[in-house]
Amino acid sequence: MAPRSVAVIGGGISGLAAAFLLRDSGLEVIVLEGSPRLGGKLAVSEVAGVPVDAGAEALLARRPEGTDLIAAAGLAGELVLPGTTAAGIWTRGQLRPLPRRQFMGVPADFDELAATGILSGAGLARARDDLTRPASPADGDQSVTSRVGGRFGAELVDRLVEPLLGGVYAGSCDDLSFEATLPALAQAARGHSSLAEAAASLLPPELAEIAPGVTLTTNMNEAIRGADVIMMLRVQLERQHEAAFPASEYFQFYGLRLEHLSLAKPEVIVMHPGPINRGREISSEVADSQRSVILTQVENGIAIRMAVLERVLQPENRHAHAAD
Ligand SMILES: Cc1cc2nc3c(=O)[nH]c(=O)nc-3n(C[C@H](O)[C@H](O)[C@H](O)COP(=O)(O)OP(=O)(O)OC[C@H]3O[C@@H](n4cnc5c(N)ncnc54)[C@H](O)[C@@H]3O)c2cc1C
Repeated sequence: MAPRSVAVIGGGISGLAAAFLLRDSGLEVIVLEGSPRLGGKLAVSEVAGVPVDAGAEALLARRPEGTDLIAAAGLAGELVLPGTTAAGIWTRGQLRPLPRRQFMGVPADFDELAATGILSGAGLARARDDLTRPASPADGDQSVTSRVGGRFGAELVDRLVEPLLGGVYAGSCDDLSFEATLPALAQAARGHSSLAEAAASLLPPELAEIAPGVTLTTNMNEAIRGADVIMMLRVQLERQHEAAFPASEYFQFYGLRLEHLSLAKPEVIVMHPGPINRGREISSEVADSQRSVILTQVENGIAIRMAVLERVLQPENRHAHAAD
């Protein structure tokens, strides 16, 4: 009997994955692709001689459907984890960090914007004019270039707003409507003469405003350098679905490992409320090292918690609390 055959129409990732999964089924599999190349939306093109993804550029490492398929195709060794999750803009000859205090490129903090070096001196001076210019008349809709550029100048639109907004809406800021593409900012702008202040009103308060003197970072090395004490918190795995937690990725970026300790003071101590998740937030080498006081901390922690509870539960404290 002739082998039964399956025609897969389209050689994009869906069609190729279907064909791949049918490869051992005993069926004859034929992939029909209408265009001259396989891959569909997965494509690579060159920008200044560098190969760049022209379609999809990433997959979620915590989704086994993708990573398992890649491993089954023998490509597991070629998976690359992102080196950083920070966004940057290539401008004025180098990659510069995207300011944190901005709303779709509209700056909320001119000092931070200045530090990024995204704008020239003249461009920055023009952008700062926003703070002193009279309120823009709210007469009908304008293009993003006209409304945002009118407040901050054309350079800021070109270098900061266009890369973010133009990418999302696949259009030019000259043609995009300010009201339609930035409705929250348009609404906030009605209550502020400065557009930077309107943008700031849409952002959460900075940590420095809530906890003066505390520095926020997402970089482990930066946080640990020169530290006297490293206080780790535990990942509450029992409250997460294991499949949804990118354990190895998390450990790579935020796990405490032996090499981190050399950045801290030589007498550094490592604390952790316990129970620890080895290989998740902390390595066994660190947890069991001379620098770890985790077991003592956990032992004392029980007594201290009980003492606090007993104190709180005393009748006079209960009344005092009820009267508050
Ligand atoms: C710019 C961009 C960025 C993206 N970023 C991500 C990302 O980061 N992560 C992510 O997971 N996804 C991303 N996606 C989505 C992802 O790329 C697509 O969902 C996925 O590639 C679709 O694959 P597919 O095989 O279903 O379809 P397609 O890739 O469209 O493949 C369909 C194939 O079928 C062929 N075909 C169609 N009709 C016929 C026919 N009648 N006869 C013969 N051949 C035919 C087409 O030529 C094509 O090759 C992105 C998409 C784009 C466009």
